[in-house]
Amino acid sequence: MIVHELSIAQSLIEVVTREAQRVGAVRATRLVCRIGALRQVDDVLLQEAFRIARQGTMCQEGCLSIEKTYVQALCPRCDARFPVRNWEWDCPACGTEGLDPIGGDELELITIEAEMPDEDRCPAECV
Ligand SMILES: [Zn+2]
Repeated sequence: MIVHELSIAQSLIEVVTREAQRVGAVRATRLVCRIGALRQVDDVLLQEAFRIARQGTMCQEGCLSIEKTYVQALCPRCDARFPVRNWEWDCPACGTEGLDPIGGDELELITIEAEMPDEDRCPAECV
């Protein structure tokens, strides 16, 4: 279902547009977002959705990088936090089942790279 990914792509672009306008950038060249595994977002579909959603926006020529995060469980035996990948809840060090899950539901933009107007160019008036 790309509808889910499309709405995520659109909201990412909204945030980027707002931020880029705030700092006076002309376009966004790269966005990095962090998405938790619990969000059930398909990376490939999100990339596809992003290419659709960016048309006619400040992100038109921008690329999207996706950073996946996982639920972090706590091992009651060695007290270590470890990421739960593929719903594997056993501690990688000692095999004890992890407890106290945190995170994994992130959905945030962590980096926006944008292009500023060319400051070296002479304004039209002075040509
Ligand atoms: Zn352990």
